[in-house]
Parts: sequence; structure tokens; C-alpha cells
Amino acid sequence: MARDERSVTPQSEDFSAWYNDVVFRAELVDRGPVRGSMVIRPYGYRIWELLQADLDARIKATGHQNAYFPLLIPQSYMQREAEHVEGFAPELFTVTHAGGKELEEPLVIRPTSETIIGEMMAKWISSHRDLPLLLNQWANVLRWEMRPRMFLRTTEFLWQEGHTAHATAAEATAETMLALDFYQEVAAGTAALATVPGEKTPRERFAGAERTFTIEGMMRDGRALQAGTSHFMGTNFAAAFGITYTAESGTAELCHTTSWGMSTRMVGGVIMAHGDDKGLVLPPAVAPYQVVIVPIGRGDQGVATATAATELAAALLRAGIRTHVDDRPQVSPGFKFNDWEMRGVPIRLELGPRDLASGTALMSRRLDYQQAAAKTAIPLGSAPDLLAAELHAFQLMLAQRAADYREEHTSVVDTWPEFTAAVATGWALALHCGDESCEDEIKAETTADPRCIPLAGAAERGPCVKCGKPSAYGKRLIFARAY
Ligand SMILES: [Zn+2]
Repeated sequence: MARDERSVTPQSEDFSAWYNDVVFRAELVDRGPVRGSMVIRPYGYRIWELLQADLDARIKATGHQNAYFPLLIPQSYMQREAEHVEGFAPELFTVTHAGGKELEEPLVIRPTSETIIGEMMAKWISSHRDLPLLLNQWANVLRWEMRPRMFLRTTEFLWQEGHTAHATAAEATAETMLALDFYQEVAAGTAALATVPGEKTPRERFAGAERTFTIEGMMRDGRALQAGTSHFMGTNFAAAFGITYTAESGTAELCHTTSWGMSTRMVGGVIMAHGDDKGLVLPPAVAPYQVVIVPIGRGDQGVATATAATELAAALLRAGIRTHVDDRPQVSPGFKFNDWEMRGVPIRLELGPRDLASGTALMSRRLDYQQAAAKTAIPLGSAPDLLAAELHAFQLMLAQRAADYREEHTSVVDTWPEFTAAVATGWALALHCGDESCEDEIKAETTADPRCIPLAGAAERGPCVKCGKPSAYGKRLIFARAY
């Protein structure tokens, strides 16, 4: 492959072309045969698995249990909660035929599973002693997508959906916030995204929810990405599906339910929050390979460095460092270095005859932020400890870089010209009247919309940035163009 075929479009030239170049050239995905479908290749799937394992551990550690519900849902289930069916109708896949015959009742392919899980909750819950019921499902869902984009908007995607039932609104609200915490920890800690937790405005709520919470991350083009959402349903789904319990007093009560999800779109967030003109930059916590070793040398020297590379890899693997030896004979060391750089490997090690003679390997980091960029010789004997420390530092550095980037591209604005300038390149923190028609006007003029009311925002009141009416929500909102 020629060198130019491996390079990617610069982000500054065309961010969206950059993204496409990266996802295909780094072999994260391929296009599926059906419009909007995505084949996740092993390198991309490993990133998802690492995010998934981290989130799954948090879900289980807090008393939730995994279960699995059917993909096909009777159409009538979807119709029981009025807002829910209205919200999802444009995205639904409906199965009308099976076994060569028309079905008596059409089936929908789950776009989400509130309805079928609600039906089962109604069956399983009878007494206050059955509560809380804390379920989670790892599954695929289908939603028809008009403007597909790999990882970000695909017709079929993978996710987890938590579904819980509680006796009181207070307990269900606490659960909603607990799930938001999982997402914030995975996004900020593991994926090194500088996400902001907040609440959605009523217009942006999940179909059928009373309150929707979100974490929003900033991508390298200044746009926002919703990376996880958690919904407090109140008694809406309980009423629609008859999820009731007998209280200690003997009266029948409606449960309060929640649902919350994080999907493969998070992989898109990792790509867009950290990548640069050379390609992917992966946080060590989600990097399929944290360290790649490239042995260098021909003939006997090549045999010696290849053997040493294998031994070094074994030592690193024993220390829990995901390591790969690139011993492809048909390509040059230079090609390998560029290739792994494009594929975002945090640390690369060169091991040549001279390094071996001095008992060292030459280390390069994928990215140097606010520190001297250099190749460093590291002693082979202490490589596991040194690299573990380097990977830890790299993870923190990426998180800091993402936080700094968000800070630099977020503006507190009070006037409309300031607002339009801010959302052209990043986020605007602005007061808003809370009218949906005003949100619509902002969206029509700038393509930006309210991403969230940040949980941490300070109390503030004043005129709406667009229409001048008194502000709602008691604090500033984040407005941005979004994925
Ligand atoms: Zn307004």
C-alpha cells in the first residue's frame, strides 16, 4: 500500500471526511449490505468490549442483574404508552410476514425494550418485597436511520439498557442518578472524555419519560455528543403496563420505573474526542493494544530482536499490559510505525540490534501534550513497571487534554451575536426562556440546540439569549451543534 493511501484527511480540512477515513483505515468497521448497517471489525469490537466490561462491572456491583428479552415485540405493546409510540414510530421496523404467511398481529423489532420489559415486570412484581427490581440487558436494537454514520447513527447498534422498578419516586430518581454516575465514570475515567452531566429540556426528553438526564462530551470539531442517557419514567410505563405492587398497608400502588442506556456510539465519541491528523488516539483503558513492539533487524540480528520482542511482550502481558508484537516480514519498520500511529496505539517500542545490545527499547508515545516529544530509551528489565506508569500518565494526559479543549471552546454568552459565534466553533453557556418554539428558532438559525442543563451550573437568572423573555431552569444551559 502506498504511503498516501494510509494517510487521513486533516481534521481542519474536513472533519467528517477525517472521521470516515479513520474508521475504515483503522479497520474499526466496514459497511454492511443494508443501508445504515455496520460491520464492527475485531479492532473496533475490542474497544467496545473494553467499554462494555467496565460498565458491566459497575452495573453488577450495584445490585443489578443481567437478563435477556426477545427482539420481537407485539405491535400492540408499543401502542400502550402514547408518547412512546409517537416518539418511536418513524424509526420502527415492522415484521408483517413469517413462515411465508402474513402475521395476524405485526411484530416490531425492538427500538428499545421498555414495553416488553414492562409487560414482564407487571408479571413478576406483586408485593413491596419484590422491589426494587433491578434489571439490565445487553442487546442490539434497530432504528431506521435517515442519515447514517458509523458508530454514531447506525440502523442497528449495540447497547445496554437498564430497566428498574421502585416503590417510590424518590428511589427511582436516585436510581436514575446512579446510572448517570456509571456513564460519567466510564466516559470521563475510562474513555477520557470530558463529559458534562446534566438534564435534558422537556423537548429533548425520551419518549414517555418525565425526566431525562444525559452526559454530553465535546468532540474535536466543537460539536457535542450525547454519550449516555438515564430516564425517570415516573408511573407512565407502570400505568400503561400495570406494574403495581401491594404496599405494606395493603393498598395497590403503581411502581416508579427508570431506564438508562449507553451504546456503541461511545466508540464514535472516543474517536472524535481524541483523534488527530495522524489518525486515532486511544486512551489506554480502551486500547485493544496498549503497547506494540516492532522488532528491527535482518538475518541473525533479526532473529535475536524478534526473540527479545516476544520475551518482552510476555513480560508485559504478565503485568496486565495488552501488548502486540508486529513481526510482519513483508512491511518495513517505518510502515509499521505509521500504521500503529494511525490506529491509535498509545505506546510503540522499537527493538533493534543496538537497543538489544544496550538492554533497552526505544519508546514513543502516540501523543505528547504539554511535554517534550521524544523517543526515550527504557531498560528492558524494568519495562513492565515503567510502561504501566507511562500508560497511566497517558490516560490522565488525554483526559486533561479533553477537559482543556472543552474549556477553551466553551463561552459564556449573553447576546445573540456572541451565541452564534460560540456555537460555530464550540459550546455556548446561555440563559433560555424554556419555550419550545424559541428552541426551534435557535435550531433553525444555527443548527444548535440545548444539550443539557448542567447539574453543576450555578444559579442564575436573566433574559433569554434569543427572545429576551425571562429565563427558565434557574441556570445557564449548554447549547451546541451535536451528533
Ligand atoms: Zn427564548
